[in-house]
Amino acid sequence: MCYKHQFYGIASHRCVQLTPTLRCNQRCRFCWRSFEHEIPEEVECPPETILAGIHKLQKKALAGYNAVLDNTVTEERWQEALDPKHVAISLSGEPTLYRQLPELIDLFNENEYTTFLVSNGTNPDVLARCHPYQVYVSLDAPDEETYLSLCRPLDNYWEQVQESLALLGSRRSAVRITLVKGLNDFAPEQYAALLQESGPMFVEVKGYMYLGYSRKRLVRENMPEHKQVRSFAEKIATACEYRIKDENILSRVVCLEREI
Ligand code: SF4
Repeated sequence: MCYKHQFYGIASHRCVQLTPTLRCNQRCRFCWRSFEHEIPEEVECPPETILAGIHKLQKKALAGYNAVLDNTVTEERWQEALDPKHVAISLSGEPTLYRQLPELIDLFNENEYTTFLVSNGTNPDVLARCHPYQVYVSLDAPDEETYLSLCRPLDNYWEQVQESLALLGSRRSAVRITLVKGLNDFAPEQYAALLQESGPMFVEVKGYMYLGYSRKRLVRENMPEHKQVRSFAEKIATACEYRIKDENILSRVVCLEREI
């Protein structure tokens, strides 16, 4: 079970990590994926094809886990995992660049999957047309200048990110802050002001992990320890109407929830 089970009750073993497009319009320095090997062309799958492939591809992704049937991977849990009920639309690339995202999410809803949509917030118009169970928007900087230097967008989308944040107050929603030591772990009161204006139900303050291709752009010392993540989350909470809901030390993440 991952921390989304702990925070939101999601049955992680029945969750499919899904990427409808590998393209992205940012080049975040902390991103674990590769910009160095960009796929030049991409053919978009229709939503029906994606839905039809879920069971088969999830089984392929899980291959091997059944070999270690023990107290963690019980037969019952293994069988449940082969019948996923939840889709996390994230992983690699920016999903709002997939042209049929609203239709894809509607199709999942019709087929009784719960959906998490994770977006960098650069396409508020698309986000407004999407109706997932829970929507995430990333806020990785307290100000425009830091956003431009850390997330390195292909255009300046700071205004669009603010528009996306403004959509969250009336929805089941979360803001994700990836905290990178020495690069965006300052001005908690500015993060707090942006969160207060946006009003998401939850805020996840999560420590950057020195993984994948991000190791070419950052150093291990950019990873904050959990106590630093916790301390920064407390400072944010003190400056706005949020309180600490929970934390997961292993994933270096603290969850805040809106007080009212
Ligand atoms: S927005 Fe997400 S996928 Fe795109 S570069 Fe940043 S972390 Fe990576």
